[in-house]
Amino acid sequence: MLKKILIANRGEIALRIIRTCREMGISTVAVHSDIDAASPFVLNADEAWPLPGKTSRETYLDQDKILHIARHSGCDGIHPGYGFLSENAGFARKVTEAGLVFIGPPAEAIEVMGSKTAARKLMIAHGVPTVPGTEDAITDSQTALQAAREIGFPVLLKAAAGGGGKGMRLVIREDDFQESLESAAREAGSAFGNDAVYIEKYIEEPRHIEFQILADQHGHTIHLGERECSIQRRHQKIIEEAPSAVLTPYLRRKMGDAAVKAARACNYVNAGTIEFLVDKHLNYFFLEMNTRLQVEHPVTEWVTGLDLVREQILIASGQPMSKTNSVESFIGHAVECRLYAEDSNQNFAPSPGTIHFLKPADGPGIREDSGVEQGSEISLYYDPMISKLTAWATDRGSAIDRMIRALREYEIAGIQTSIPFLIRVLDHQAFRQGRLTTNFINQYSADLFKASPDLDKIAALAAVLFQIEQDNRTVIGGNNGRQSAISEWKMSGRKESLRKL
Ligand code: ADP
Repeated sequence: MLKKILIANRGEIALRIIRTCREMGISTVAVHSDIDAASPFVLNADEAWPLPGKTSRETYLDQDKILHIARHSGCDGIHPGYGFLSENAGFARKVTEAGLVFIGPPAEAIEVMGSKTAARKLMIAHGVPTVPGTEDAITDSQTALQAAREIGFPVLLKAAAGGGGKGMRLVIREDDFQESLESAAREAGSAFGNDAVYIEKYIEEPRHIEFQILADQHGHTIHLGERECSIQRRHQKIIEEAPSAVLTPYLRRKMGDAAVKAARACNYVNAGTIEFLVDKHLNYFFLEMNTRLQVEHPVTEWVTGLDLVREQILIASGQPMSKTNSVESFIGHAVECRLYAEDSNQNFAPSPGTIHFLKPADGPGIREDSGVEQGSEISLYYDPMISKLTAWATDRGSAIDRMIRALREYEIAGIQTSIPFLIRVLDHQAFRQGRLTTNFINQYSADLFKASPDLDKIAALAAVLFQIEQDNRTVIGGNNGRQSAISEWKMSGRKESLRKL
């Protein structure tokens, strides 16, 4: 069993991994940039080593520095979390070559699944349904146009090395094809250093449904059921749930079998996710495999009772995993919301700043995976996700009610957050009825981007009041028992505004 693990990541996921390590009696080493020096994940690790600098490139992406620290601190394993180096085959290889254990899949599996075109080819060879499209990247624009005509408009141009929705262009009309092709290739080139683009049929009104896979070194490959992640902004998930409201036991079995087949096709070991798009006739198509732990893994943990980080560590240590059969029935229902420091009304623009006040939600059936605390700074250097809130209940409706309750309880000031927007999505009739598509936010934009009541403005006001109160305390040494501005606001304005939301 691994004894000491370096966590090559930051924020909520680093803290989440530390917690499981602690339960398993494994020591932890955090690495951190200058601005993260006082972050909760750093303070909670057994050891912390600096990665001097601010940008990701100088810090969490510096493979040699991280490996150097792992060796010098006596670690025997590295957990990459998600993002950063988690899907970097070169890093996985270097870790193994240094005699350490990479807590993730073999480098070869990362490599093949890291290329969307290579992954599609492998899936086709193994009989896993894929979205109709070109097998290879486009080489010249005339052949590309011909291929797009054969596939049939609308089509989607996608970066072969893609991720995070970058280099993706929807082309509805043939007239726009050329221009979109050029701009997709340009964006792919600057994001991934590889401008290869291929074409997929655009599936209209799809649902995004993914299967959690676990595979150990003893030949077991299983799935732990699905997560539905259809609520997305800019092709990025913001609300996820398990199980999906639309899967029948029959379809779950078929898709689960296809997911296991996909993982076996690349000799997968450790935790991974097979993503599918499901059209309105419930046809499903392989989209991609994520060769790492997903942000949304807590909903699977709620409904299966498993700790996925623990399973990852067991597998990486060469132990059998705790279950050897796929899981097709679940304990209740779980919903996750990603809380972002962003302004939903400004096209979800990041809202960096200091969290002046923070009182997270809790109570029955609520779990928070957070990387911040009161006083934390949300910087522009990293992803603006501040926390993940998950709610569990016996059925979907109650889980939604519980999540809305928790979001309303969540008090945060100093930055704009996606909380009011998330509440409007969850409380929307179509969401409650399980009528989801990846286009949900566009489709219901008139309901979701309501101008008032504007909780974001109230939150900004709260931040100002809080600052005034802090200043008063510094000057006169306390408020002498008088009702403070912030508590007055808390008693009246906030509750009223929340009720109206
Ligand atoms: P990335 O790796 O860049 O995140 P994905 O291939 O995982 O890209 O797709 C992200 C999202 O984009 C999907 O969840 C879906 O909303 C949308 N999408 C991708 N491919 C298609 C398609 N062929 N048709 C319709 N929507 C798609």
